[in-house]
Order: sequence, then C-alpha cells, then structure tokens
Amino acid sequence: MKILFAASEAYPLVKTGGLGDVIHSLPRALQALGAEVRVVLPAYRLVLEQMESLRIVGWLQVQGAGRRHEVRILEAGSRHLGVPLLLVDAPLLFDRPGNPYLHPDGYNWHDNAERFTVFSRAVARLAADNGLLDWRPDVVHCHDWQAGLVPAFLSLDSRAPASVFTIHNLSYAGIFSHQEFEQLALPKAWWSPDAIEFFGNFSMLKAGIVFSDHVTTVSPTYAEEIQTPAFGYGFDGVLRAMRHKLSGILNGIDTEIWNPATDPYLPSHYSARHRYLAGKRDNKKALLAQLGLDADEAALKTPLLGFIGRLVEQKGIDLLLEAIPALLAHPGVRLVVLGSGESRFENALRELAAIHPGQLLLTLGYSEELAHRIEAGCDLFLMPSRFEPCGLNQLYSLRYGTPPVVHAVGGLADTVVDATRENLEAGRATGFLFRQPTTDALLEAVQRALKLYRNDSDWHRLIRTAMAQDFGWSRSAARYMALYETLRGKSATIHTPSVETAGASPNCHEQP
Ligand code: ADP
Repeated sequence: MKILFAASEAYPLVKTGGLGDVIHSLPRALQALGAEVRVVLPAYRLVLEQMESLRIVGWLQVQGAGRRHEVRILEAGSRHLGVPLLLVDAPLLFDRPGNPYLHPDGYNWHDNAERFTVFSRAVARLAADNGLLDWRPDVVHCHDWQAGLVPAFLSLDSRAPASVFTIHNLSYAGIFSHQEFEQLALPKAWWSPDAIEFFGNFSMLKAGIVFSDHVTTVSPTYAEEIQTPAFGYGFDGVLRAMRHKLSGILNGIDTEIWNPATDPYLPSHYSARHRYLAGKRDNKKALLAQLGLDADEAALKTPLLGFIGRLVEQKGIDLLLEAIPALLAHPGVRLVVLGSGESRFENALRELAAIHPGQLLLTLGYSEELAHRIEAGCDLFLMPSRFEPCGLNQLYSLRYGTPPVVHAVGGLADTVVDATRENLEAGRATGFLFRQPTTDALLEAVQRALKLYRNDSDWHRLIRTAMAQDFGWSRSAARYMALYETLRGKSATIHTPSVETAGASPNCHEQP
C-alpha cells in the first residue's frame, strides 16, 4: 500500500498545532503496518533551513494567480520524519519568514489562496503523473484546507489515485473570494454550491469534502457533531449530504516523544509502576522553580493546575479567564498557563497574572520543552474547549498522570471517562467532564477534582487508570489501512458537479 500524505505542517520541521503532530506520527505508524508512506509539504524557508541535503526530483510549471510558477520538487530523504519527505519549492510563495499561514506581524499572508492552490496543483500532478516520482501512490491522503484542492485537481485526471481528505479542524476552512477563484483559473464548473462555492466565496476545505473519495475527521464524536448547525460552521449541510463517505478515526499520540519514563525534557522520569509519586513531585518542584517559585513542602502538596494551548475562543480561554479568580481562591491552588494567540486573551491573562502574582504562572509564547514539563509537573490539566476535533493535550496529560478536566465535546468526550463514583469503582475513570460550556460548569468540575485529590486512594486509582490508557497509533493506523484498502484501485473520476444547493446532493461524487 503506497500512501502520499499532503499537508501544510509536520513536527519537528514546522508545527502550529495538532496537525503537525499527526503528520509526524501517523505516517510512521502506517509504515510500521507495512505501508510505504511519503509526505509532501510546502518548502517553507523554515523547513529549507533545516535540510542538509536535498535531491531535485524535477520541475513543474504550475498555474498560480494570473502567473505561472516554476516549481521544483525536492526530496529530503527519511531523516526528519522517519519516512521520505518531498517538498514543493515555489520560492515566491514559500521562501519567507513567519509561520506557514501568517506574516510575522500576525495577519494572514495576502496570497494564501495562491500559495495553497499552487501547492495542491503540484501535489496532484506528482500523484497522478508517474514520470516525476517513479512511485505511484494508491491513495493520496490530504489534510485540512491547505491540501483541500488536491482531491479536486485529482478528479480532473482519469489516471489519478483515490483520495482521502481529513478534517483536523472545520473552523479553518480556507475561504477566498470569487476574484481569487478567477485569478487562480479554477474550472468554471466548480463555481457552484454543489462544488466549492461557499456562500458567495469558495472554500478549499469544501473542495476536499466534496471531491475526495472519503472524508475522515479526527474523532467519532466530532464526525457526528460537524453534521449539526451548532458545530458545522456552515458545512453541516454538505457534510450531512456526504455522510455516506464520512467517518471519524481518533488521533493517536507518539508514545516515544510523549513518554514520562524517557522524556528528555523532564528533570525526573517516572511511569505508572515506577517512581510515580516521586517523579511527579520532582517535576512539580522543578516546574515551579523554572517559573520563579521556590516551592516548600506545603506548596508541593497543594494542587497545581495546568493549561496549554492556542489562545483562541475554540479552546474555551474565555471560560478559563472568567474562572481564574474563583479557581485561585482555593487555598494554595496555582495555575500554570502556556499559550499564545489572540492579543485580547494574552492581555487579559497578563492582567490576571499581575493581580495574582505567584499563583497564576503565565508564559506567553511557544515552548515544546515547557509543554512537556507542564504535563509532567501539574496535578490537573484544564481543557475547557468549546469544540475539540480530537485534542492531543488531554491524551498527553492522561499519559503523564495529570488527569484532565474537559468539556465533553468531540475527541475530549471520546477519550476521557468522568470520575463518577461508579466509574471510579469500576476502574474506568480517567478525568473530569463537564457538559455545558459555562464557567460555572468548569468550576464545578474543578471542585470535584480538587475534592478527589484529597482522597489518596481514589486519586491514585484515577491516575493509574489514566496512565494505563493506550492512545498510541496502532489501533487508529489499522483503521486508516482498512480504509485505504477499500479505496485502492479506485481511481478518481472526472467530476462534473450538477448545479444543486450545497449539501443537497448525496451523489455529488459517486464512482461510476
Ligand atoms: P490544536 O491542534 O487545536 O492546537 P491539539 O490539542 O490537537 O490542539 O494540539 C495542540 C498541540 O500543540 C499539542 O502538541 C500542544 O502541546 C501544542 N501546543 C499548543 N500551544 C502550545 C504552546 N504555546 N507551546 C507549546 N506547545 C503548544
């Protein structure tokens, strides 16, 4: 089974969130099951700077916005991702500072439509045209809106392999204007609600949904939720129409990188069986010291809460902000926050940290090292996301013996079992769930957690169960393999959308 992964980020080369983690770990897991996987990324400056040697595979002329790009396809070998890496090198579009989507000043690159259309056109050519790679994938697995046009371009080529499109987060939909649609010379027939038009604009995410042979999202619950107006971001209609080819496969985690027994970022190693108490304690002391606090015995005994994440509404940061004064009113409780994002949230956190010195320990920015240390050093991990396609941090915190307090949505509902008395006694409980996205519900769940924390035997049982969960990739990778098997040999058909309303046609891309 040969799989080409097309995505816009991959840890450790370039990562802004969970997508980067998945593009690092899923290909390796598939490879372990016998698949041959290659990953293709845009050749961002940041990525090129990390390469020592590159082979030029070939050149492509690719249509951009009113101009053509001379694109180099580069091959970087397996050193970085554990599987061969290909790069789409279009220097005018990707050789720049900043993150993959944003200017260093924080706004979207003005030409993101062109950047990811050129990337997608090049990937489709690579996948369908034997001449370039000397390697023909059975399936092209495309991730998020940046690769959403790949299945659409593949559908124009009768030689093309089958495609899978994975939605990692529906709220980032790659929406651009009609003017950009025209400049990019996209096929006129695609300007239809039945194809990629989206309420007067067009959406690259919708292209992936409509034109791929199968759509997955990263947890079973999120696959259901996105078919409802409350979670559908306007795509619920088209997703309901496509439900015959939509499924949820839970993300896994890289259990080597996220392993408290070997994690090189941790000052003290531990596992569920070995040094759990001492290891947690040492890591807590070191974390507090790193954040400027010399923790005495009393401080080490009182609960330390943690939060890591992008500071955007999705992550429920507004709920957390409102809850902080009440949380910190509990005697001795401290909260460690690591995140970066919208300035309104960063400013509000700064203000609260000034009001609660030594209690709200705030780091604004991005740090892999500190993220690992927070997972290990805290007693409870807060994840009040308003929606969460899968979520990785709660999985890391389970593995690090730091029970998560989560809003019961998406992947959080699929991966955390509430510490009710019944679940505790049955040895199933792993964390704390709350059902409504309100500050009161969050506080109530934290209060339950703090109460349990004072009961040693219940607490240790909870932690043992949490640490025993297997969220490695093997089960989910096997599900992807089974899906690829059903699609292998199914080459894409020329797609001619009929003009119907968005989502009204379940037969939009049926195979003949
Ligand atoms: P999302 O993809 O929506 O951001 P996930 O929970 O799926 O959320 O994945 C987030 C990933 O990014 C995790 O690996 C998390 O540790 C990491 N992360 C997020 N913010 C930061 C930060 N400020 N510093 C370090 N790591 C971060």
